[in-house]
Amino acid sequence: MQKCANHPARFTAIGCKKCKLPICEECRLYTEDGVFCSEGCAQEFREFSSKIMVHGGSRSRFSFSAWIKHIATAAILVVVILVALYIWLGTTDPGEMYSQIMKQLKLLF
Ligand SMILES: [Zn+2]
Ligand SMILES: [Zn+2]
Repeated sequence: MQKCANHPARFTAIGCKKCKLPICEECRLYTEDGVFCSEGCAQEFREFSSKIMVHGGSRSRFSFSAWIKHIATAAILVVVILVALYIWLGTTDPGEMYSQIMKQLKLLF
């Protein structure tokens, strides 16, 4: 048992959910989120838990947008490589490209 933060003569086993301050029956503020010592603590706790929820939600959205970004980056990379090959080899036909690449490699080595 601890002494109430506001009433040193009263003992309590219950503490504020936010600041853990021991509070007696009279000082307790009951909310849907739990028992708090003051409206300020209840408000802080609400903001704290809503922040966690927002953070968790944005994290799942973030991974989705990151996934889209990865695909977009890969697509752009493929397009850039194809354009570079087209400029280099002068063709978009894969078979033609392959023989052109082989020819170019033979020239290089
Ligand atoms: Zn408190
Ligand atoms: Zn009290």
